[in-house]
Amino acid sequence: PALFGTGRRNARGWDLSDQRDLDGIEAARAPYRGTCFQAAPLIAGKVTGVAPYKALNPADPADLVGEVTFSADADVETALAAARPWGAEVAQRAQVLNRAADLYEENFGQIFAVLGREAGKSQLDAVGELREAVDFLRYYALQAQGLTAPARGVFACISPWNFPLAIFTGQIAGALAAGNGVLAKPAEQTPLIAHLATRLLHQAGVPRDVLQLLPGDGATVGAALTSDARVNGVAFTGSTDTALVIRRAMADHMAPGTPLIAETGGLNAMIVDSTALPEQAVRDVLASSFQSAGQRCSALRCLYVQEDIAEEFCAMLFGAMDELRLGNPWALATDVGPVIDLDARDQIAAYVEAARAEGRVLHELTAPDAGVFVPPVVLSVSGIRALKREVFGPVLHLATFKAQDLDRVIADVNATGYGLTFGLHTRIDSRVQHVVERITVGNTYVNRNQIGAIVGSQPFGGEGLSGTGPKAGGPHYLTRFTRHMAPRAPE
Ligand code: GLU
Repeated sequence: PALFGTGRRNARGWDLSDQRDLDGIEAARAPYRGTCFQAAPLIAGKVTGVAPYKALNPADPADLVGEVTFSADADVETALAAARPWGAEVAQRAQVLNRAADLYEENFGQIFAVLGREAGKSQLDAVGELREAVDFLRYYALQAQGLTAPARGVFACISPWNFPLAIFTGQIAGALAAGNGVLAKPAEQTPLIAHLATRLLHQAGVPRDVLQLLPGDGATVGAALTSDARVNGVAFTGSTDTALVIRRAMADHMAPGTPLIAETGGLNAMIVDSTALPEQAVRDVLASSFQSAGQRCSALRCLYVQEDIAEEFCAMLFGAMDELRLGNPWALATDVGPVIDLDARDQIAAYVEAARAEGRVLHELTAPDAGVFVPPVVLSVSGIRALKREVFGPVLHLATFKAQDLDRVIADVNATGYGLTFGLHTRIDSRVQHVVERITVGNTYVNRNQIGAIVGSQPFGGEGLSGTGPKAGGPHYLTRFTRHMAPRAPE
């Protein structure tokens, strides 16, 4: 299949340095500032549901964003019984997905409002997220036309709260483009945006029994979907630990060839050597570690700065950090919004406190009073080997290295077992080649930030503990949603 198909362009998006775009965003989302959204299971049958809960804005606990009815066990059963593959011809599937992309773009005001209020997305992140969702729809619609193998059947798509629109849409669009039916289980923290997106997909023409939405938590809805033989494949993005739980459940209940497409965690490093352009490296470190409040699996966790420039570099980095604006993402000037919920805040804060007790806090900002904020912080660390797990927030670890130890740093990064993103800042071409040949990650970025992979240009996904592939937004993603060379289920 073509990587750059004719007739497809990535979405234009919105230019936040253009006052006309800012005015357009402001006007389109204003009507949804105080809306209390409603969400419930969208299934092909009668909904039972469990008592609704109130979804609050993580940046402002006084803001009631919505009322959400989670799926009862009976709803999961109804959905499983009704689920079916999408029988439509590929050209029709592509047309419907392209229409959905148009509907997403037309409804940008409501989408930005929900992304900001439910998920704490800054406007920059909300724009990126909507663009990516639209790009996934159009890219997979095009890729599907090159498929020769048939669909597998019905996929369970289990998506994360950190990209509650883009990854939610990407998994579903992949499965649907290939001709499957979908049972979608969005993260329990972000059912409202998933509900809005599902309604737009239905409006575009995806039949209601082909795409069903089951909001709920992992322990009930997720567990039921991943241990039912009527499900023919699972697409999952989330933690490495949860991926292992899913794989075990699938092994116990599904045919041996049932695919699990998992995008999981990362322990991502960046190396800045003494030839790097410091202004550029500082800007890219800030974006990589603190944009989205560090809640990206691609985010920079461990920065290695060459010893010779460390003092000067840190002075610049900490100075630039002080310019970041924390606050409610409804304000267009906000750079860093809240983390997703109180649990996340408490876990990250406990981790930072432990580091503080060891005297390892190098620089830290101050958080607003209300809302679940974690102020961006830099902690000193001997190296990536000292990091035992991914801390999913605005916490950057900083180590120094000597020029002669570059290969040891590369070996340590590879030894984590994760392999998602990696960043390198250097102006020596031969060093780029040296490092890129040795580092074992899915996505390597040179002299830029290491987040925000672009559909069609930067297929995204990791290896080792970071995921199974195929990469999302790349030319091989759809093949895993088809019966291409798959073993047959036992009779
Ligand atoms: N695709 C996103 C990026 O390149 C990261 C996805 C994730 O965090 O799950 O930043």
